[in-house]
Amino acid sequence: MEKTADIVIIGGGIIGTSIAYHLAQKKAKGVVLLEKGMLGEGSTAKCAGGIRAQFSTEINLRFSLESLQTWNHFREIMGTELDFKKVGYLVLASSEEEWAVFQKSSDLQHQFGIPVELLSPREIQYRWPYLQGDDLQGGTFCAWDGYAGPYEALSGFTRGARRGGVKIFEQTEVLQILRDRDRVTGVRTPQGDMASPIVVNAAGPFAREVGKRAGVEVPVQPFRRQLFFTRPFSLIPDPIPLVIDYHRGWYFRREGAGLLISGPKDDFPSFNLNVDYEAMVEVARNSMHRVPIMEKVEIDRGWAGSYEISPDNHALLGEEPGLRGFFQANGFSGHGFQHSPAAGKALADLILGEKPIIDISCLSPERFKKGEMIREPLTAFKD
Ligand SMILES: Cc1cc2nc3c(=O)[nH]c(=O)nc-3n(C[C@H](O)[C@H](O)[C@H](O)COP(=O)(O)OP(=O)(O)OC[C@H]3O[C@@H](n4cnc5c(N)ncnc54)[C@H](O)[C@@H]3O)c2cc1C
Repeated sequence: MEKTADIVIIGGGIIGTSIAYHLAQKKAKGVVLLEKGMLGEGSTAKCAGGIRAQFSTEINLRFSLESLQTWNHFREIMGTELDFKKVGYLVLASSEEEWAVFQKSSDLQHQFGIPVELLSPREIQYRWPYLQGDDLQGGTFCAWDGYAGPYEALSGFTRGARRGGVKIFEQTEVLQILRDRDRVTGVRTPQGDMASPIVVNAAGPFAREVGKRAGVEVPVQPFRRQLFFTRPFSLIPDPIPLVIDYHRGWYFRREGAGLLISGPKDDFPSFNLNVDYEAMVEVARNSMHRVPIMEKVEIDRGWAGSYEISPDNHALLGEEPGLRGFFQANGFSGHGFQHSPAAGKALADLILGEKPIIDISCLSPERFKKGEMIREPLTAFKD
């Protein structure tokens, strides 16, 4: 392994590989990515692949629009298939408060040119008759949304990064981030030290642990989310949109001939990745409430992954105050997959001293120290 690098990226998930790819695109030299296990084995492997333009803060909308440029043209750009299924996202509101916020968010989305439709319960029932809508106030639908394969995306970024000269080492855990007072000087791994003036923390749910290895507090915590997969199910149509029942924090979509159904999200942090039978009970209850015919569905298997949640559900993207050369690229709070193209591009710009493609100053890690958190109208929903 190299003894020196110009830029070291810690973490080989969708964020780390996107940063590596975009640095390579900009002809940056001496870029090294270190992954403690195998590429993509973290949250990226557990992700539902959701991609949407239905966000309610300006910065997330900008990230979605910029990322869509990549997702919509992935084959031409990367030379590999993404299988982006543009089935749309249908988001359902059950309370008046939720519906008021959805309407306000759609105003903002329209200002950005996003074709979000506001639908009454009757329209929802007409277009998707398998949904139970007695308790609905309304819903929003955006045909630009859908889902794609995280592994396909990750391998596209990885291949592009390698082609551009990025060196990638798996099974290489960063044990310590070396510093000289207020400057990063490199990383320590079991294979030896690597000197580098720039180190990027793209460790997803482990961002806080990696931060500690530099003596820095990174306010990102792992929260378990469970997902379940059913056996083939033909009693509802194919395709269907990705449907989010906001009130219940529940969503489902097609997965092959079967369905992918979201289970509960823990409300306390942990690295627990077990699947619970109680979670399956909740999944069954939520499914039968919204789609009564799903009482006939058979759950086949499930898995759990970690959301990497920041205190305001927005990413930390920028240089760490007080430690020059240490960049944060984490805390994407459940939408890191879909925002990885824009995040990778913007951070590559910033690292190389250029004006970022999106103004990411509001995502600076400094905001938490200054008490300038980003406000979202409703608690963010999680894909
Ligand atoms: C159930 C579930 C569903 C989701 N669905 C969606 C969705 O529909 N749409 C969406 O946009 N997002 C979704 N997400 C969120 C998305 O998966 C994450 O935001 C995204 O994968 C984060 O990518 P990452 O590269 O930051 O983290 P990760 O993929 O976790 O990568 C971080 C990597 O860092 C490595 N690492 C950690 N510590 C070290 C170290 N010390 N040294 C070296 N390497 C280290 C880890 O091994 C890991 O591979 C979902 C998440 C979950 C859990």
